[in-house]
Amino acid sequence: MKTLKIAIQKSGRLNEKSVEILKNCGLSFENYKSSLISTVTNFPLEILFLRDDDIPEYVQDGIADLGIVGENVIVETGANVSYLQKLGFGKCSLKIAVKNDSDIDTVAKLDGKVIATSYPVILEKYLKANQVNAQIRNISGSVEIGPGLGLSDAIFDIVSTGGTLKNNGLKPFTSVMNSEAVLVSTPGLEFNTEVVEIVQRIQSVLRARTTKYVVLNVAKENLKAVVDLLPGVKSPTVVPLFEEDWVAVHSVIDEQDFWVKINSLKAAGAQGIVVMPIEKIIT
Ligand code: ATP
Ligand code: MG
Repeated sequence: MKTLKIAIQKSGRLNEKSVEILKNCGLSFENYKSSLISTVTNFPLEILFLRDDDIPEYVQDGIADLGIVGENVIVETGANVSYLQKLGFGKCSLKIAVKNDSDIDTVAKLDGKVIATSYPVILEKYLKANQVNAQIRNISGSVEIGPGLGLSDAIFDIVSTGGTLKNNGLKPFTSVMNSEAVLVSTPGLEFNTEVVEIVQRIQSVLRARTTKYVVLNVAKENLKAVVDLLPGVKSPTVVPLFEEDWVAVHSVIDEQDFWVKINSLKAAGAQGIVVMPIEKIIT
């Protein structure tokens, strides 16, 4: 069996969550800050710790078989990789921002202006699509100080909370792309048995993260009303209680409308509701 290689960020915003998701998949490996490569002891897999900018091309060229990286970096490098799974972390948007007092409030008004960015490829595509002729100034970091220094009229950068923009007297006026961390593979490797196994494990961890295990007690006369509120994975488990007219119901519920569901369960007669985290859901 060929040992696969997965590239993840060595340090930075995606490192911790990338390590966490792999560990939650039951993969055992040492995570020394100093090492650039780590061997998984219970799966034919090696982990390469790299700068995120290098990951798309390593995966494209097959130096790594898999990678975890922000979609924005993949688009920026233009690498040809296969998207296997969105991972739900590292979420951010790439936005164009201007000084608070700027009169630039439409893309068209960027015509003839200077825009500072570390993402020239994504920006250029966007400007072209909008038929705007602006000068792109490629800066490797701290682009948000550009307008204040008179270096640029606008910036194009990653925004998650917007705090950095605010602190620099900037306001975003248009969002160009949304991004999150994704699992990618070398094209053609999507159907490799071990790759499929890793994707399935990751999906079961992701499913479990958005659901909770719920146990509650209900009088038999209210059972139907409570069960109707619980979709469960298939149908809920109903267990008899010592008190004859009562049963315990076990089910899985989605975190999304969690409190709405809990309140309607209570209203339908549910009591002693216990909510537990789920580690994995294998379907
Ligand atoms: P490296 O040293 O690996 O090159 P980096 O400094 O280029 O790291 P980070 O700042 O660690 O990159 O960000 C990694 C990724 O995290 C980004 O490419 C983006 O997809 C995502 N991300 C999420 N929120 C933010 C944010 N607020 N600022 C920057 N990146 C963010
Ligand atoms: Mg980088």
